[in-house]
Amino acid sequence: MIGPSRRILLAAAAALGAGAAAAKDNEPISGNRGANILGPRDQPREDQNPDILRPPSTDRGTMPNLRFSFADAHVKARDGGWSREVTQRELPISTTMAGVNMRLKAGGVRELHWHKQAEWAFMLAGNARVTAVDNDGLNFIADVKAGDLWYFPAGIPHSIQGLSGEGCEFLLAFPDGEFSEDNTFAITDLFAHNPRDALAKDLSIAPDALRNIPKEELFIFQADLPPPLREDTVSDPHGRVAQDMVFKLMERPPTNSPGGRVRIADTRNFPISTDVAAAHVEVDPGHMREIHWHPNADEWQYYISGKARMTVFGAEAKARTFDFQAGDVGYVPMSMSHFIENTGSEPVRFLELFRSPRFMDVSLAQWMALTPHELVQAHLNIDRSMLERLRKEKQPVV
Ligand code: MN
Ligand code: MN
Repeated sequence: MIGPSRRILLAAAAALGAGAAAAKDNEPISGNRGANILGPRDQPREDQNPDILRPPSTDRGTMPNLRFSFADAHVKARDGGWSREVTQRELPISTTMAGVNMRLKAGGVRELHWHKQAEWAFMLAGNARVTAVDNDGLNFIADVKAGDLWYFPAGIPHSIQGLSGEGCEFLLAFPDGEFSEDNTFAITDLFAHNPRDALAKDLSIAPDALRNIPKEELFIFQADLPPPLREDTVSDPHGRVAQDMVFKLMERPPTNSPGGRVRIADTRNFPISTDVAAAHVEVDPGHMREIHWHPNADEWQYYISGKARMTVFGAEAKARTFDFQAGDVGYVPMSMSHFIENTGSEPVRFLELFRSPRFMDVSLAQWMALTPHELVQAHLNIDRSMLERLRKEKQPVV
């Protein structure tokens, strides 16, 4: 015998089956709306963007593009590694943040350099050695592994070198959409564009010692592997930097939700990171990062693994849904509500980054739970008994 709940389940399964068949055909058809594509098409891209090809009926109006993939970004290859960047040039809405994805082989060096913006980083794979010297002459030399962060304040010179094995790959973020890896201050570029006699005088060395300096910026180059860290330190008469520039984010216990895990790094636990606040979010299959918004900053996202969709609501009846996968950058202007729903079969891992010293978010569910329920009911006609069950504690992943 088939009971009513079983019947509903079967009906739902049939509806799901119909949806899956439509998705397989991959045509912009939803019910009676739309028609198949007759003209040119790029089906692999359409398959990656089911919510663009067949948007939810709640999507409406003009919204800026909120996604760009590193797969579409120019690769700058050198001996020792490569880099590619997604900035305001690629994703025009991303005025507050730019990102660089960089790979260094074992021994490969991102040369000694500095820039006007602070640098925030997340190690994706492998190991690296980072160095920096601050404005008080305090130095910092450390090894970082997958899951660690680093932060170099604006203008502080630094370097990164891949270590033994596969070297490393990481994501860099800069709190300025106009940042580019092409316009950083490099030590080789400085040497190539200052008079030799002035350089020799500055360093109190013989001008002849400069005869082999590179003629142009190296950017990334292959070098020998450095010795173990304890043999690679430089004693500093002024001491070591007061604030740690590395933060072992993934070693920290997460805030657990029934549907996932969140780890936050901002000035409350990583005090040097005054210009970038971050959250590392994991959403299990079938779950979603709850509907929320950020009162203090735009959000720049980087998808590490899995598949997801995000609807961004921009007021004035405007909303659009975007699909994401590994290597994608997403962007959400300040105050626009959004959720990130896992649409795949493995956990979605992504970073939320903000040009701010503090991570802040406002939860729709918590707001409703902590507002007089009669008032909420008068707006939405949702039964009081449902409103009374809303969670009063913020639950980032549901
Ligand atoms: Mn840098
Ligand atoms: Mn968010």
